[in-house]
Amino acid sequence: MEKLRIVVATKNKKKLAELIAAFDGLAVELVPLSFYGETPDAVEDGETFEDNAVIKAKFYSEQLGVPAIADDSGLTIEKLGGAPGVYSARYCGHHGSDEENNAHMVKEMKRIGEEESKAAYECALAFVNSADGAVITSHGSVSGLITLVPRGEGGFGYDPYFYMDGGKTMAELTPEEKDAVSHRGEAIRAMRPLLEKYLNK
Ligand code: IMP
Repeated sequence: MEKLRIVVATKNKKKLAELIAAFDGLAVELVPLSFYGETPDAVEDGETFEDNAVIKAKFYSEQLGVPAIADDSGLTIEKLGGAPGVYSARYCGHHGSDEENNAHMVKEMKRIGEEESKAAYECALAFVNSADGAVITSHGSVSGLITLVPRGEGGFGYDPYFYMDGGKTMAELTPEEKDAVSHRGEAIRAMRPLLEKYLNK
């Protein structure tokens, strides 16, 4: 069975491994961006997670001449009007470290005088094949509560501040527990049947 080579538009090894596991058994061969050597960065100037995922997948599919999968994700905090949203990785003013972005989030919550807010992690995944114009997207989200009290050592980003039903933060889950409930896990699982249908066309 001939496998369709798909480039995964991420430099994050964990995301690549997660996608390889989720698409196990499909006639696809997922390769990282590094397979193609030095690649330029896509300009992520979309207004939604889905826009940015499609922009990235389209960019790399056109650049490299193979189908591409990209994801875009972030945190939306209700009392901050949905911020940081698509700016989650740049909330501190530049492409900052988790510590810098978390410190800025805490500062913004204090500035509006709030100790907690409803929040959600969102993730969009896009598959684009510029050779035949195919664009397939999926989405996942998980609701929670942001507080100013961090807990836990796992995960990354805003996880120590993101409390879920049951009282644990996302940073207190094992990687397997996080994948089972996370926005990214949900988006990846939703993509599999869509990709399977495309491959069987
Ligand atoms: P990216 O789409 O992987 O670049 O992620 C965007 C940003 O959203 C990250 O840098 C984090 O700040 C935030 N983010 C996305 N997913 C998560 C998560 O699972 N935990 C914590 N922060 C996340």
